[in-house]
Amino acid sequence: MKDFKRPRSEKDFELNFSPINPLMSGSEAVVESSRCLFCYNAPCIKACPTEIDIPLFIRQISTGNLKGTARTIYESNYFGNACGKVCPVEVLCEGACVFNDMNLKPIEIGRLQSYAATYALKKKFALFVPGAPQNKKVAVIGAGPAGISCACELRRFGYEVDVFEAKDKPTGLTLHGVAPYKITNEEALKEAEFLKKQLEFRIHYRTPVTSYRQFRNLENEYDAIFIGIGLGNTVELKIKGEDLDGCMGAVEYIENIKLKKHKARSGRKVVVIGGGNTAMDAASEASRMGAERVWLSYRRSKEEMPAYEFEYELAKKVCVEPLFNTAPLEISGKSKVEGIKLAPTKVVSGRITADKQNSFVVPCDMVIIATGQEKQNKLLDIIDGFEFDDKGRPVTEGDSFRAKGTKYFIAGDVINGGSEIVNAVAEAVKAAEGIHNFLKGNTN
Ligand SMILES: Cc1cc2nc3c(=O)[nH]c(=O)nc-3n(C[C@H](O)[C@H](O)[C@H](O)COP(=O)(O)OP(=O)(O)OC[C@H]3O[C@@H](n4cnc5c(N)ncnc54)[C@H](O)[C@@H]3O)c2cc1C
Ligand code: SF4
Repeated sequence: MKDFKRPRSEKDFELNFSPINPLMSGSEAVVESSRCLFCYNAPCIKACPTEIDIPLFIRQISTGNLKGTARTIYESNYFGNACGKVCPVEVLCEGACVFNDMNLKPIEIGRLQSYAATYALKKKFALFVPGAPQNKKVAVIGAGPAGISCACELRRFGYEVDVFEAKDKPTGLTLHGVAPYKITNEEALKEAEFLKKQLEFRIHYRTPVTSYRQFRNLENEYDAIFIGIGLGNTVELKIKGEDLDGCMGAVEYIENIKLKKHKARSGRKVVVIGGGNTAMDAASEASRMGAERVWLSYRRSKEEMPAYEFEYELAKKVCVEPLFNTAPLEISGKSKVEGIKLAPTKVVSGRITADKQNSFVVPCDMVIIATGQEKQNKLLDIIDGFEFDDKGRPVTEGDSFRAKGTKYFIAGDVINGGSEIVNAVAEAVKAAEGIHNFLKGNTN
């Protein structure tokens, strides 16, 4: 259990948010890589959405072939460094490692990957060259993991690529969302620069694509368009007091910390509403920002929480206090948040019901809402020809990620509803292959 003081300087901030998975040294990497059994039909590869040849890159580390390691990683995953640091490896590659069956510690695949990828970025290994020109142009909307991965793959096919990004920096939520103790801003940006230098795609920053006219212009100017715009702002709870000063969405709260570091606003007594990974991150980060108390209110039981167990454990380690089976009724205060009224919940006829008679108030100066991000359907709705299924998702054609019957392709959080960086990368690479087939006339 750890208490943190409010960080007053960048140095304090870096101390409070120091990496939970520190970079391996060369000798640590060699020792760890020598434990791998280099399994035939390795389960760790199957568990990775980008299907990196993990035993191969681990063997390359053990033989000192770090350029070969980098090639193996980046051939499958353009966000090789970010994913080594931020992937939920416990439920992916490391969770599938055969050592678990022997009740032994799995190979530290994530840290090995990040060791080799960090080295590749430092040494500026030349891994990629653009393909022979195809004389066709593709527009990519969004410079997150999906947009950048799609741009990289398309450049290797030889297409001209223009990326249009609303913000002033690349990598999307890698920069604006993922907790600083998993990846620093510098690390995220360095990987994007490494890719951009080698593959020469253009990024137009502060260029949101939001109007019918802009989409029409892109349709006229480009042979295909990829959409990788992720999800929107935090979904509102629609309870009284949500507009009070001190109540904010988790995505916005976290983005502020990522950009302003120790200067970001944070409360002394904080209640986080939600039970997903973003709620765990927001609660952990509030604690690391020096809150005296942080409570996590979730309307169901611990067992029903969608957050990964290890993310909950991380939050507990920094003194976050759970309030399971509670639901928010209203936030109180004159102009600023002074407290939140919670009610115990129970299941009545299969539905969660708040027991208002037994409600109680938790005095606090900040409430963070972490109950999901908005879909981007309002924006997608303005594009001619988009079809939506009964759950409101754009209808796409199988593995090509092509929006049915259009020249648009769409992947990442915007279509999977919010997953991990590694999923956005894997989907976007498939979408780039879909675009290539489409432009080669292999599909209608
Ligand atoms: C708080 C938080 C913590 C997370 N932690 C992790 C983690 O630890 N590990 C992990 O693997 N995943 C994590 N994720 C999930 C991960 O960040 C996402 O799955 C991944 O970033 C999705 O990539 P994307 O490219 O689809 O979308 P995004 O990363 O959201 O990128 C979309 C980009 O499009 C831009 N954009 C949006 N609209 C427009 C427009 N109209 N015009 C132009 N540009 C636009 C945005 O500015 C952004 O740069 C986290 C997510 C959140 C919210
Ligand atoms: S499952 Fe574990 S031991 Fe087997 S190849 Fe993968 S990392 Fe190595």
